[in-house]
Amino acid sequence: MKFADEFRNKAIAQGIARAIGAEVSSQRAYRFMEFCGGHTHAISRYGLEDLLPANVRMIHGPGCPVCVLPASRIDMAIRLVDRPEVALCVYGDLMRAPGSQGQSLLRAKALGADIRMVYSTLDAIRLAEQAPSREVVFFAIGFETTTPPTAVMIRIAEKKRLKGLSVFCNHVLTPSAMHSILENPKIRDTGGVPIDGFIGPAHVSTIIGTQPYEPLAEQFGKPIVIAGFEPLDVLQAILMLVRQVNEDRNEVENQYSRVVTREGNRRAKDEVSQIFELRAQFEWRGLGLVPNSGLKLKPAYAQFDAETRFAIHDLRVADNPACECCAILRGAKRPVDCKLFGTVCTPETPMGSCMVSSEGACAAYWTYGRVRDEPLRRTS
Ligand code: SF4
Repeated sequence: MKFADEFRNKAIAQGIARAIGAEVSSQRAYRFMEFCGGHTHAISRYGLEDLLPANVRMIHGPGCPVCVLPASRIDMAIRLVDRPEVALCVYGDLMRAPGSQGQSLLRAKALGADIRMVYSTLDAIRLAEQAPSREVVFFAIGFETTTPPTAVMIRIAEKKRLKGLSVFCNHVLTPSAMHSILENPKIRDTGGVPIDGFIGPAHVSTIIGTQPYEPLAEQFGKPIVIAGFEPLDVLQAILMLVRQVNEDRNEVENQYSRVVTREGNRRAKDEVSQIFELRAQFEWRGLGLVPNSGLKLKPAYAQFDAETRFAIHDLRVADNPACECCAILRGAKRPVDCKLFGTVCTPETPMGSCMVSSEGACAAYWTYGRVRDEPLRRTS
């Protein structure tokens, strides 16, 4: 397949791996966080860690929207669908995301709530047109990649005068989360490991460009390499990070130059900035309350804001104490450190968000069996 096969070439991968092996210093450790779940999956699926020297360690980051959505937002959505007039439109991978006390949208649907699985914002628009007597709420989730379609949906709803359509907004921002990981002493004190550099997001960066990462690299003295999701992309990014560390450079480099520019997608950014504004703070699973890390609708679009329209207020709920998702999402633990991994918790019976989402680190470890060097902990 064009643009895929040529980035999965085994001989080239082995050549890059040899270059990494030749350039790493045996005198130090290299600890790189891949922010995105897409990279975590590429690393697991293609066994890339097996190609790396022992002193190059990949740390899985929080870049999976379903994984970082806190239980409180699921509980808020369930409160929304308690209203008989509401039809909630959600993406399928959100259905099993855990709320508090074993709640989920799937369970709410089984108990009779009107929850519809959709493939795009257009499905929500279609439902609002077909069922004008229903309050159709779109569960908007995701990083900067999925925010422009939500903005366009609101534009269309405004143009078509769809009075019954609104958005439960959970869009979050990548650079703010990276800032929090690097700066927040609470996150570092709870077992976060030192990070020597980041593999930066692929799809997110097609929208925001590479420029927003420059202040992070400068302020925290960490190299950042934006990389595509294919195995050669990831290996080349690791080589670029190794070189920066060896040369004591802290720059933003763009491995994914076939798609990403420094400026990003201006039209998409304009669309988003017209509809959304920053929240003062937003809760992330694993990171807690992160300043300036989430978006909400501007007051001019309040009629489309489900939180305003239905007076749904922020909640604080506790996570399942046996689940290590929070520590995994801040890079402090790996899936195999969780007592439930592979025993009680599997993709068929997920106990936490990192096993629910196909982008989650626990799902990646389980799906691709990257657990052979790290014995599973059995409950019995
Ligand atoms: S294995 Fe399951 S319970 Fe453990 S951290 Fe991962 S999602 Fe949570």
